[in-house]
Amino acid sequence: MIITLKKGTDAKSLDTLTQWLRSQSIEAHVSEGEYSTIVGLIGDTSKLDTDLIQGLPMVENVTRISEPYKNANRKFHPDDTVVDISGYKIGGGNFQLIAGPCSVESREQIISIAKDVKKSGANLLRGGAFKPRTSPYAFQGMREQGLELLREAKKETGMPIVTEIMDASHIELFDDVDVFQVGARNMQNFELLKELGKTDKPILLKRGLANTLQELLMSAEYIMAGGNSKIILCERGIRTFEPAMRNTLDITAVPLLKKLTHLPIIVDPSHAAGIADMVHPLSLAAAAAGADGIMIEVHNDPQHALCDGPQALTPERFDAVAKDVMKIIGITGKTMNGAEK
Ligand code: PEP
Ligand code: MN
Repeated sequence: MIITLKKGTDAKSLDTLTQWLRSQSIEAHVSEGEYSTIVGLIGDTSKLDTDLIQGLPMVENVTRISEPYKNANRKFHPDDTVVDISGYKIGGGNFQLIAGPCSVESREQIISIAKDVKKSGANLLRGGAFKPRTSPYAFQGMREQGLELLREAKKETGMPIVTEIMDASHIELFDDVDVFQVGARNMQNFELLKELGKTDKPILLKRGLANTLQELLMSAEYIMAGGNSKIILCERGIRTFEPAMRNTLDITAVPLLKKLTHLPIIVDPSHAAGIADMVHPLSLAAAAAGADGIMIEVHNDPQHALCDGPQALTPERFDAVAKDVMKIIGITGKTMNGAEK
């Protein structure tokens, strides 16, 4: 349920209202927008007397929300959420390019790729240290050593780092990491989501291979229910009947999520297709559809990459994508850097 307050409602009346709601075991989330103040209610609102609330002098109207996601719902928070990643903003008109290898493989590899993608306009560096692989015999990532190399790359380039976390027991290990990535395979690892909800680090939440948008938003809700609202959603392709590509990019998810939620949404065209040649056109489609960012896998030697080589761009090809994405961003009115540094 949401209560929209009349313009000019004073803080004291608002406080009286939220206190009364709390006495009814209802949590009240106040969102003060440019044009109105909205009070979002979480808890069992079925016993609340809607007519009584509607009759209060400060209340403009009362609406019941049918969606099961509340904190993530745009009705709760009409303005876009802007997530600040160590000074780089994403959402609310701020756009970011995130780039780097699927996996950290060596010091030389991560630092050389980081320098190259930074030159092309990427502000954030990605790289997997703990890798979720379908086969237990495949390269599992450099683990702690990979995190150490990411730290070195961050020190060398100043780029904040985005890396995947698969286990809540690793949270402390990821201390210097700027963004926790929750991979597609862990989108519904609810215990992990609950623990991440207790942190105050930005979280890049990827859509699961076969998950609906409502399920993605419910996973975001798990994190938000714990108190962390710094969430960036990521569309990375879903599994369909089409075997010609690794996944099918659900581009509709971008404008649709914009309607359903205030959280920023980015696109990962690398995992979406699994084919390097598709990354350029899909990146342009994502930018044109209104994505708040794009995350691309880049490798200095794709043919010898230990993971996801067929979808990796060389730094030269990434540079060409970044240039064209910037042109589209200009048309959509977003700001590419958005960094107050
Ligand atoms: C990745 O980003 O390398 C990755 C494993 O992605 P996803 O979880 O989307 O498959
Ligand atoms: Mn990958």
